Amino acid sequence: MQNRKIQIQAWQGDAPQPCHDYLHSAGKRASRWPERPEAHAEVAVVGAGLSGLVAAYHLKGREVVVLESGSQPGGVCLPGLYQGIPYPAGSAYFYHDPEDKETLAWFRDLGLNVEDALVAPPTSALFHQGRWHPDCFGAAGLESLPLPSGVRENLRRLVEELIAHEETWDPLASPFMTHPEWDKYHLRHFLENIQGLSPEVTGFFEPYCRSCLGAGPEEISAWAGIYFLIAEFSPTSRIGFFPEGNARLVQALAAALNKPVQVRQTVAGLKLNADSVHLRVWDGEGQRPWILEAGMVILATGKFVAHRLLPPDCGWDPELFKAFRYSSYVVAALGGNLRLEAPGFENWVTGEAVFSDFILTPRQAPGGSPRVMVVFAPQPYPGGREPLLHKTPEEQAQEILTAVGRHFPGLPEEVEEIHLYRFGHAQVVPYPGFLHFLKGRLSPQEGRLVLANSDMEGLPCVEAALAQGQKAARRVRATLRI
Ligand SMILES: Cc1cc2nc3c(=O)[nH]c(=O)nc-3n(C[C@H](O)[C@H](O)[C@H](O)COP(=O)(O)OP(=O)(O)OC[C@H]3O[C@@H](n4cnc5c(N)ncnc54)[C@H](O)[C@@H]3O)c2cc1C
Repeated sequence: MQNRKIQIQAWQGDAPQPCHDYLHSAGKRASRWPERPEAHAEVAVVGAGLSGLVAAYHLKGREVVVLESGSQPGGVCLPGLYQGIPYPAGSAYFYHDPEDKETLAWFRDLGLNVEDALVAPPTSALFHQGRWHPDCFGAAGLESLPLPSGVRENLRRLVEELIAHEETWDPLASPFMTHPEWDKYHLRHFLENIQGLSPEVTGFFEPYCRSCLGAGPEEISAWAGIYFLIAEFSPTSRIGFFPEGNARLVQALAAALNKPVQVRQTVAGLKLNADSVHLRVWDGEGQRPWILEAGMVILATGKFVAHRLLPPDCGWDPELFKAFRYSSYVVAALGGNLRLEAPGFENWVTGEAVFSDFILTPRQAPGGSPRVMVVFAPQPYPGGREPLLHKTPEEQAQEILTAVGRHFPGLPEEVEEIHLYRFGHAQVVPYPGFLHFLKGRLSPQEGRLVLANSDMEGLPCVEAALAQGQKAARRVRATLRI
């Protein structure tokens, strides 16, 4: 990087500016809001991430307005492009059980053929101490891990247990919890003190936890960790992946709506009236404030935003929202004629603080042709967000290139272009006790206001966003009797 000119693009990702400007200084701007609404809707959806789009999709046929502060729908599901090669610039893949005909039909209605998107094995590989272990979440891969035979036997038993739990596990979005006691302690405690596994085994799961659950095994609830690991080890569940990642789902949902998503429209506050809600909207395009009147509002943003929009008479105790904690994330797309071969679709790297995993796209490419290495760099938790706001793209690019070069020497010299994406409140962190709180203490609806977003499931995954969107739409239909 020192002698060659690598093209480093400016930060992309979430749009902190409109929100920081209009939410943190909402008081100062209060006098500028017009009194009278200039538009009306039966339902307003705030936030066009997956959960908001799914909610709007399930209210199709009604008068729904979707407002999004960013310049495109998608939230953390962003598409990227390098020399004509699409790649996921945020959320990448989803799980699919080929036996689940209902979900298959849901995708098909959206014009998406999930069967074509199923990833060929080995879906995962672990790079540990300079060696690849393909199929690290399958029986063969586990056998190849460098572990004493007793530890390997314990690990094998754990995996069998996880697979058995899949049969009896409550589905996502259930109000109940199978083994609620597992939410009381962290995953490291479960693995080492309850399962008797060595810290080395916890280390194999470390990059996975940071990448998928926002924090290490000592920070996340064992219940949440087990929930995710069941999907990984499941013999039936498969990974679905479109070249631009989960942005494909977003595009399909947005295209299926009656009205286009209104982008660059930041909701800065809500006012409750006797028979409607007024949304104060800052139009980033026209640089002006306006009011939307809606019969009901679905708040599909993270709670770090939602609680700032709620009026004092909304019915929720503002203290409750302090329970939500988030981690931050960087995604770096390294483009160039990359020769690296990696056995998995998703490739995990142990012992590396700067990044956790990567995807190569296209997975196989003739030597010397352009490819993208999408590097996932979950930021330290807690405390990763503030440094991210001040880091320059050059500093971030250098950090990632150096880290990648530590494991794959020569690769940084092949990189020609770097695209960087940062997400300040990327993932809700399911710390021990958080899922109990969600299922027991937080009401998802107060009158005309419905809370959505994947953070309401306590699990940062597309399945949580889809479940939340569907639930929110059902709540609205039940309230409006439509
Ligand atoms: C880098 C990364 C990779 C991931 N990879 C995967 C993966 O491979 N598989 C998986 O299952 N999950 C993955 N996830 C998690 C999963 O994608 C998310 O949990 C899910 O997409 C979140 O959708 P959401 O609608 O709940 O929230 P968001 O995507 O956060 O959507 C919220 C939307 O609200 C908008 N908004 C915020 N404030 C306002 C306002 N005031 N007015 C108007 N709009 C507003 C935001 O701009 C945003 O578009 C990943 C997450 C990240 C960060």
